[in-house]
Amino acid sequence: MSRIVFFCIPAWGHTNPTVEVVRTLVRQGHQVRYYSFAPFREKLEDAGAEVVLCDGFLPPPPKDLDKKVGKDFSALVEMAADTTLALEDKVSRELTEFRTEVIVSDSVCFWGKLFAWKLGIPYVCSTTTFAFNQHTARLMKPKLGEMLRTILGGARVERKLALLREHGYPVGTLTDLIQNDNDTDTIVYTSREFQPMAETFSERYTFVGPSLPEIPAREEKERPLVYVSLGTVVWGKPAFYRRCVEALGGMDVDVVLSVGTEENVTALGLLPAHVQAAVRVDQLAVLAQADVFLTHCGMNSASESIWCGVPTVLYPQQSEEGAVADRMEELGLGLRLKDESHIREAITTVLTEPSYRERTCAVSETFRTAGGAQRAAEKILDCIR
Ligand code: UDP
Repeated sequence: MSRIVFFCIPAWGHTNPTVEVVRTLVRQGHQVRYYSFAPFREKLEDAGAEVVLCDGFLPPPPKDLDKKVGKDFSALVEMAADTTLALEDKVSRELTEFRTEVIVSDSVCFWGKLFAWKLGIPYVCSTTTFAFNQHTARLMKPKLGEMLRTILGGARVERKLALLREHGYPVGTLTDLIQNDNDTDTIVYTSREFQPMAETFSERYTFVGPSLPEIPAREEKERPLVYVSLGTVVWGKPAFYRRCVEALGGMDVDVVLSVGTEENVTALGLLPAHVQAAVRVDQLAVLAQADVFLTHCGMNSASESIWCGVPTVLYPQQSEEGAVADRMEELGLGLRLKDESHIREAITTVLTEPSYRERTCAVSETFRTAGGAQRAAEKILDCIR
């Protein structure tokens, strides 16, 4: 029996792919401790992890967190450095007492990586986005505002890195901290075929495909099902969902909208009988029956959609999602939404042009043969032996 510790940031998109890996390890008799946050506790405990909550150690969120997520990298690095220092006494002691054999930390959960480096514990990087290096960085196309914020935040980030070094963390440059390198054992939850520039990543990378729970079987139904979601971080404005209702309300389709907040549900008011809006849905259950997905192209939503063979209308909100949308467009899996006045047209094209579904099913096959949670678990255990 091995003792394995996971670290993740408070985000569904980064936590979800690890859940089945935890379940697999626990089923095999290993002891898994997971440093996470209150909203994720139940799901992780259900998978068999001992959950340690870190909510009280996060710095207070900036007022405009919504605008910063995915857009102000300097602010996020600063928050991560502060979290590391706030957690260090407690976690360093606990990791030693637990006799931790390997740390599995999300690629942007810098504190997990930093504790592993400082304490000399084997470390596996868990990457829920595309793997990221100097080559794929060029695909991100940050907007001008994002670039400006990064440049302006540079000096603040350098001060935080210096502080981390004073505390004994062997941090080189910011790049060392944020990018995937070819010397670190890394799990990526996609297939080599879907990863852009896969040839630039070493054999230390294991592309396991999405790690998903069992998905319900597809059922016969009268009309196509259209699913709309912009993910769990940036929910978009009520006006976007209103436009979806206007565009899809007159079509002979069923519609499910996941809108993120009660305010967004209320703002939609009374809906036509074939349109449903909810704060959150069981996305995999909906995708199992869906015929087209209007998505923000978060990596998990994209992967889940591809896994279920559901073609997409691509509506990325951030540069990272833009890179996912580009790849899906390049492979012919979806059609990019030009703007919100084209929703009906884009949905109709994807529903009626079979190549979108056929190509999506072909990539789905590469996911299904990549090894999933079982292969990720093997990789983690290999790093101990
Ligand atoms: N999700 C869900 N129900 C919803 C919306 C999202 O279960 O109503 C899940 C979805 O299945 C995915 C995750 O939340 O696993 C969203 O991750 P993604 O990377 O797509 O986007 P993010 O929310 O991180 O922007």
